Amino acid sequence: MVLDITTLRVALGVVALTLLLLFYASFRRTRSSYNGWWCIALLFFLAGNLAFLLNGTPYQVWANPSGNVLLVGGAFSVWTGARSLRMLPPPRWQFAAACGVTAIASVLESPGHNTWSGGLVYLGFMTVGIALASRDLWLLDSSYSHVHKSMALAAGFLAAYYFCRLSVYLVEGPSGPNFRLYFGPSMASLVTLILLVAVSFSMTALSNDQLINRLSERAARDNLTGLLNRGTFMELATKELERLHTTNSVASLILADLDHFKAINDEYGHAAGDTALQAFAAACTESVRSTDLVGRYGGEEFILLLPGASQERAESIAADINRSLAAAKSIDDIHVPTVSYGVTSTEFDAVDLTAMIAAADAALYEAKSLGRNRVVRASPLA
Ligand code: GH3
Ligand code: MG
Ligand code: MG
Repeated sequence: MVLDITTLRVALGVVALTLLLLFYASFRRTRSSYNGWWCIALLFFLAGNLAFLLNGTPYQVWANPSGNVLLVGGAFSVWTGARSLRMLPPPRWQFAAACGVTAIASVLESPGHNTWSGGLVYLGFMTVGIALASRDLWLLDSSYSHVHKSMALAAGFLAAYYFCRLSVYLVEGPSGPNFRLYFGPSMASLVTLILLVAVSFSMTALSNDQLINRLSERAARDNLTGLLNRGTFMELATKELERLHTTNSVASLILADLDHFKAINDEYGHAAGDTALQAFAAACTESVRSTDLVGRYGGEEFILLLPGASQERAESIAADINRSLAAAKSIDDIHVPTVSYGVTSTEFDAVDLTAMIAAADAALYEAKSLGRNRVVRASPLA
């Protein structure tokens, strides 16, 4: 059975248009970049199919090469979208090269009367574009979304199908019996139709996951300094302390408060105060390990939980932060005040977060009353 290609192309076009309208509405709402690239891909597929409908008319000479280029553009848009999920930049030159080479190959083999002009290059780039999309979807962090593996498999299946089309095309050419029956335009349209619907369905879940991830990342951070906000810090630190308690490991906690910070605002303006807060946050991040937790506890107060660090190690980290801050001050001429620190450790004190904060806060208070610009160790609980 050879399916009627014109009917299939019209059906594919209608489905692509419907999906495009639905996804465009969802893109306007979510602003998800993957959603945007999927819209662009659908637009390419739609336009490419429309161009192929002109085969057999006098316009075939330009429409057929255009159809090839548009479909390759669609495949590479799917890949670009998959990369955007992994925060990778658009593959600009690969995109341009794939479309450019397909265009050149398609005009070289008499497209006026040969509907398979540039067929080999077209099938090759379709296979590559979709296979790369499948790979990037597969490599996406599993915590990101639960649907990306099934989408990777769907794209992988389509890439394999295109690879078979390419192989059979190479062996028997476009008029061979197997190619016409299993790998010709009709069957390819049918397979694409099914996968467009399947992938679009999963896409809705994926864009929602992308939006939720973005929002929760934003909600977890303080937007001036980029550090954890108080709520997130408390939540993560509580869990971390519980974990450390079960493994009998130590942890230290530092509370830091910038000295006479109000004077910076008053003297140099609020923007200079903000810059000083950012410089201090950067100094903290530079001085700790990626597994340590650093948060903005309040206005000009910061909190650090250092798993595995002894009291002494925590005190030397406070000194590192001061050194890093002094370096920032001398490079950028930032008006940064001195800092007072209160430090406590599970070595001697309570292992409960609230009690640790209370102990560090008392030490910080003492640092202030002793004249500021110093690190004070919390006194062990009585
Ligand atoms: P001390 O040495 O006793 O800690 O004195 P201080 O001036 O640092 O403390 P105080 O609590 O009197 O003032 C804190 C100031 O921090 C007041 C507030 O306007 C400022 N502040 C809080 N959040 C921000 C912020 O996001 N940006 C800026 N620029 N200033 C802030
Ligand atoms: Mg304060
Ligand atoms: Mg202060």
